[in-house]
Amino acid sequence: MPRIRVMVDPDLCIGAASCVTIAPETFQLNEENKAWVFDHGQEPEGHTYERWLEVTDDEKENIILAAQSCPTLAIFIFDEAGTQLFPET
Ligand code: SF4
Repeated sequence: MPRIRVMVDPDLCIGAASCVTIAPETFQLNEENKAWVFDHGQEPEGHTYERWLEVTDDEKENIILAAQSCPTLAIFIFDEAGTQLFPET
């Protein structure tokens, strides 16, 4: 299964929640209306804006769709080698 790193920049996140709508297992808004990153609905090490996830190809595509939906491009996704998958550079 692909391993990806998912990061939300809380300074960019405006709480639009489109990421939550598309990938609720990965993104949930906190009390400040910023999106925490969840691991399949869980937070094993507590709240965080950045997390390694083991995902299926379908889950990976869906998380990228969620990142694409973010109006401020606050979500960054990297592959195992550290290459930025989204936003495309
Ligand atoms: S879509 Fe972007 S701005 Fe909206 S909650 Fe998610 S990360 Fe934040």
